[in-house]
Amino acid sequence: MISRFAPVEIGADISTLPASEQAALAKMVEAARLMDGLFLQQVWAGNPALLVELAGDRTPLGQARLHYFLINKGPWSRLDHDAPFVPGVPAKPDTANFYPADATKDEIEKWIDTLPEDEQRAAMGFFHVIRRSPDGRFLVVPYSQQYQNSLDRAAALLREAATLTTQPTLKTYLDARAAAFLTNDYYASDVAWMELDASIEPTIGPYEVYEDELFNYKAAFEAFITIRDDVETKKQAAFGENLQTLEDNLPFDPTYRNPKLGALAPIRVVNVVFTAGDANRGVQTAAFNLPNDDRVVREKGSKRVMLKNVQEAKFNKVLLPISKVALTPADQARVSFDAFFTHILMHEMLHGLGPHTVHGTQTPLRQALKEHYSAIEEAKADISGLWALERLASDGTIDPQIGKDMYVTFLASMFRSIRFGVNEAHGRGIAMQLNWMLDNGAIRVNADGTFAIDELKIKDAVATLTGEFLTIEAEGNYDKAADFVQRLGVVRPEVQRVLDKLKDVPVDIEPRYATADELKR
Ligand code: ZN
Repeated sequence: MISRFAPVEIGADISTLPASEQAALAKMVEAARLMDGLFLQQVWAGNPALLVELAGDRTPLGQARLHYFLINKGPWSRLDHDAPFVPGVPAKPDTANFYPADATKDEIEKWIDTLPEDEQRAAMGFFHVIRRSPDGRFLVVPYSQQYQNSLDRAAALLREAATLTTQPTLKTYLDARAAAFLTNDYYASDVAWMELDASIEPTIGPYEVYEDELFNYKAAFEAFITIRDDVETKKQAAFGENLQTLEDNLPFDPTYRNPKLGALAPIRVVNVVFTAGDANRGVQTAAFNLPNDDRVVREKGSKRVMLKNVQEAKFNKVLLPISKVALTPADQARVSFDAFFTHILMHEMLHGLGPHTVHGTQTPLRQALKEHYSAIEEAKADISGLWALERLASDGTIDPQIGKDMYVTFLASMFRSIRFGVNEAHGRGIAMQLNWMLDNGAIRVNADGTFAIDELKIKDAVATLTGEFLTIEAEGNYDKAADFVQRLGVVRPEVQRVLDKLKDVPVDIEPRYATADELKR
């Protein structure tokens, strides 16, 4: 089970940071370490005691259990539908430790209905747990009280970091987040996070709600302590200037194009120094979009953060080995991280281009395409991303080498995505593209089972398929979307034969934070 996660050192170059910023960074990492303990408590009430028990078992089996417990942040294997791997533990509770373990969904819903409005908001909000009083009634308890000890310590460390840094927007975020830990009011610090403009980019606190499998209401503690990548950030600014031109040339009916693009969510490229809690469990996060608070998103927008060194580690440990199985030796040599990463950036940007409502109406695409929307939209972002890169490479906006390497690189990455399954939007979207390309001769299967790009056909095929998805979206064509997904969003035998050969290739990475460890010394 553990061998599916390839160990890898993750680090960032902090040599250009002045001493003040390095000292502040060390305090942020210390604060971030507290998020691991908080997250363990949130996942399951039994976690802290089990951790002590596992740590005390010095047998090889005991140490392996401890190791895998730390990867999963609990005794359930997240890659295997939460199957327990420590004897005697119960099934993973949907309530996590956000609600009383014996409470049912129905019981909590009925109780919430009886509450006055402000208490209802807290009960359904991000930052309160539900507990039972001694007489059995439910209670709403703020995180600032429930997790007081750890949050007091984390706040003190963030304040120390704020005193050390000389970067004003960073100081503001750190002070505001420290205050939020104590007051339970996260609004000002979310705003300060949107306004961060500093060499260090920390994200620390309660954010994502996936761990609350009962309602998706409650935020889990996590931390990403990162360094901004200025070279990549500049590269993107160059893309940003080209977005309207790309929109004006999208390969579909010109009347469907958007003559004036609105502001798009900014993308920040960073390198991770340390992650903890919900940000470091099971499969590693490679990008995230925050904040989740609707009020902040309405007023300040949201920000997409791409973790470049994490993507690079996944590329080296997973994608390259996959390419050795899926591609011919000549093509394997052309699989490039630069092409891989630039395409991911382009994918994110192209989500902002093309139709967002059915043409001539205010109907959102999600409403028109229903359960097929996500797969179509993800496929659109992938394939139109390739289309855009082809244009930018041919006019010299980006390194022309990317234009040469990106098709084989994308072909290898298709197998990585499909491996996670076609039940989820990204994997299904990829399967649709791969099968369409096979049917149209732009990708072919060699006699030995490897896959190859048809260099003469691929460019036109990418433009045509881009047009197909964009047109489905502009027309809000549910039937065509359903046909695409059902006919092409499947794993065909020739693809399965490659997947079957990937058994020994790691599924993901297990990071060791080299730079963070150095800061401790
Ligand atoms: Zn996407």
